[in-house]
Order: sequence, then structure tokens, then C-alpha cells
Amino acid sequence: MSARSALLLATLSLTACSAAEIPTPERAAPPAAVPAPATTTASAAAPATASASASAAAPAVVPRDPNVDKLQSAAQTDSRAYDMVRSLVDEVGPRLAGSLGDKAAVAWALRTLKDKGLENVRAEKVMVPHWERGQESGRLVAPYAHTLAITALGGSVGTPPKGLEGEIVMVESLDAMAAMDEAKVKGKIVFFSAPMTRTSDGSGYGKVAGIRHRGAVAAAKKGAIGVLLRSIGTDHDRLPHTGAMGYEKDVPKIPAAALAVPDAELLARLVGQGKPVRVSFSLGAKLLPDAESANVIGEVKGREKPDEIVLLGAHLDAWDLGQGAIDDGAGCAAVVEAARLVLGLGTRPRRTIRVVLFANEENGLRGAVAYAKDHAAELDKHQLALEIDLGSGRVHTTRFLVADASRPVAERIASLVSPLGIQYDKAPARGGADLIPLHAAAVPIVDLHQDATNYFDVHHTANDTLDKVTKEDLDQVVGAVATVAWAAAEAPETFARVPEELRKR
Ligand SMILES: [Zn+2]
Repeated sequence: MSARSALLLATLSLTACSAAEIPTPERAAPPAAVPAPATTTASAAAPATASASASAAAPAVVPRDPNVDKLQSAAQTDSRAYDMVRSLVDEVGPRLAGSLGDKAAVAWALRTLKDKGLENVRAEKVMVPHWERGQESGRLVAPYAHTLAITALGGSVGTPPKGLEGEIVMVESLDAMAAMDEAKVKGKIVFFSAPMTRTSDGSGYGKVAGIRHRGAVAAAKKGAIGVLLRSIGTDHDRLPHTGAMGYEKDVPKIPAAALAVPDAELLARLVGQGKPVRVSFSLGAKLLPDAESANVIGEVKGREKPDEIVLLGAHLDAWDLGQGAIDDGAGCAAVVEAARLVLGLGTRPRRTIRVVLFANEENGLRGAVAYAKDHAAELDKHQLALEIDLGSGRVHTTRFLVADASRPVAERIASLVSPLGIQYDKAPARGGADLIPLHAAAVPIVDLHQDATNYFDVHHTANDTLDKVTKEDLDQVVGAVATVAWAAAEAPETFARVPEELRKR
């Protein structure tokens, strides 16, 4: 299998825009309030490695860098992150990859990064898929007529203009689909009914998102004419959740859509009664030729080792149904604002802090792939990378994917964010979807795990709007990002490359 195939496979299994398959951290509940910055002293310091003995423990106390206290204080009192999200969603609007809104978002990002004082601001061209949703509707036909709340999965083909009608065959999982007799599926519409579990770490998402990615292929292999799935979400609103899906060469491409959770539960109850259930749906979706987009980049140039990079990532594109405020306007604002606060210190870190607003995370990861390709020659100079892509949820835990030799510096950074109520967990970081190519290139990664309890109520829906962003929580994220960015860029130690055995997911 080629490296590119492995990457794409990893992309499919990881699923964009989530804390996909992040195992539950063994940790205490996050604190209710952010304590004031600690005033620790060198004399109280314990060996930094002491905290490694517990899976989740308060990190060792180490001398504090006054710049860290300044950053954490500024994040609480002077953060403009919320206003940045408002500017993005109000001035740009929906910004699905390849759309006019996507182009407007690139222009907004260039303007904003320059306004914030970032250096070397530029757009690096990326060709992205251009998929359009079009008009869509769904209807229960039997046992009675009723409107269904549905939306096409991203990348789905459209239906014939008059729509698609058929009897429902309900299955719970991809394994159940694979085991089904072809005769029971042929000519029907497969309905995947698996619910998503609400968890604080978002791990419920990864357990069912594979159905969204691979359900259409699994059903088409058995002769189905279409696919509906219960939305991958934790709400009970009549708002369906979109998200990327995929097709395979030589398997018929059948239309695929998500049902709002209450509509999916209705279908499940009706099927449970043992009577034939028929539905029809119409999708106007179509795939257009690839369009030009860009990764937008800005930097805080390092004073001593400017060619060494600490990367702060988020993604600029968003699904078309809502405003993309939590996914991922909040992440974009958090990383840009963190860089602005570092600039406000009046002193530069040893290394360069690079903000990357990735193109096309939601339905292709073309931005992430292009970044790794365009910057291949300097990936070994990337010291540490992080991505913020879980709304404005407070950070409760940090993890690092680093070589053993870099564990002490990782633990020192963890100790610096502990005053923000953030636990250190020595389990390996996994990185966000845009970091997959960097992960493959052995770049050290840090995860700032955010509270995802309510994130999947609105994720990928029309309800992803500015009012779902909580300013105080977003500012805590900014403080965490700024601290990690500064501390990693200022650290005297060079981060070792991550050995392959540690990178296996
Ligand atoms: Zn996202």
C-alpha cells in the first residue's frame, strides 16, 4: 500500500472534524472555574518526570516563565477571539470548499492575519473538491405520508430529478450490512439506525462515523438503491447532520443522506412494527470540477531559530448548512488570537510560531495533504504541532505524542497549562485530521482535549451558529494555545522526531 493510500485510509477511518475515536481519558472531572495563574517557585520544584507515573496527574511544579503568566492573563482579559469568530461568520457566511464563500474566507483570513500583526502572511494554493448540495427533500410514503428532515451527505451523488422511492431495510452496523443476504437488500433503501453516544471527550463520534463514510459502499455492494442514516449527532432536533462520505471505484454510486434523529427514531419504530415502510427522497447534489482554494498562513518569526516551527492549525472551510462557528470558526480564532497575544508580549520566542488555517478539512483534507507536500523539506524542522477543531469547549486534558527524549519538555509545557484547569495525561496524542500527514512524517504532536459534551448536538448542522460559541470558554482555549505555543517555541531543547512504534494508532 502506498503512503498516499495509507493516508487516505487513515483519513476515512479518522473522520474529519471530530475527536474521532479518542479514547476516554482517565481523568478527574474538569474544574468548574479557571484558577488564577499559579505563583510557584523554583524551590518547590519536583523532578518533571514525577508526573509520568500516573496516567492523569497534576504535573510537577516547575519555575514559571513570566511570559506565560502574561499570556494567560491576557487571554482572560484581552482576548478578541470571539469577535474574530463573529467577523468570520457574519462577513463571510457559509464557506464549503470550492464555493464562493470559500474564496471569501481565504480573503478574510489574509486580511485578518495581517490586521493582527502576523508576519509572512500568505495564501498557498490548493485545488479542492467542489461539491454542491442543491435542493433536497425527504418523505415517508408508507404506512402514511409525512415529511422527513434529511440532508445529503457531503460528496453524495444526486438522485434522479423525480427522486428515489423504495422500501426501507434497517441495519445497525457495517458488520450487520456485510452479513445481510443480498436478496433482502436488492432494490431497497438501506437505513443505518446506529445512535451516537454522548460523551465529554467526543469518543462516541468515532464509533459510528465509519457508517457515514462507508455505508453507501457497503449497501451498494448488496444492490441497494440508496442509503439513509441516523444523523451522527447527540441532539433530538429535527435538524440532520451532514458530513463526508465516500465511494469506491467499481461499486455503484448510490445517493446517501442523513435523517434528523427524531425522524430516524420514527423509522426505526415503524420498521419494528413489522410492516413495510416506504420512503422517497430527492437530492440535487452534484460534484463540479475542482476549484482553487488555499491554506492561509501567518507567523510570529522566531528570534534565534526562525527556521524551526511550532505549528498551530485549524480549518477555514465549513459545511454549508450552518455558519461554521463552532466548526471551525472557533478553532481559527483560537490559534490566530494566541499568536496575536504572543506578539503582544513585545519579545519574540526562540522559534517561529506558524498559524495554518487549512483548506478543505471537511471533505477531502486537500489542504493538509498540500501543506505536507509543499513544506516537505522543512517538516523535520517542525518542533510541535497542534490543531483546534472542537468548538469552544474548555480544554480539560493535554496529551503529547513525543519521543521519550522529549517527554521532559512536554511535561514542563503541561505544567504551564495546569493553572488553566488542564490535566496532563501521558497517553499519546493523536492529532486532528489536518495533522495526519505531519503525524506520518514523525512531527511531534500535542492535543488540547476540549470538552465535547454538547459539541455533537450542533456539529455539521444548520444549528452551528455563533450563539453556540461561549466567549469565556473560548478564551480559556486561547490561553492554553498561547501557552503551549510560547513554551514550545521558547524551549531550549529541540524536539526529537517521533519513532514509528509510537505513531501506530
Ligand atoms: Zn472541524
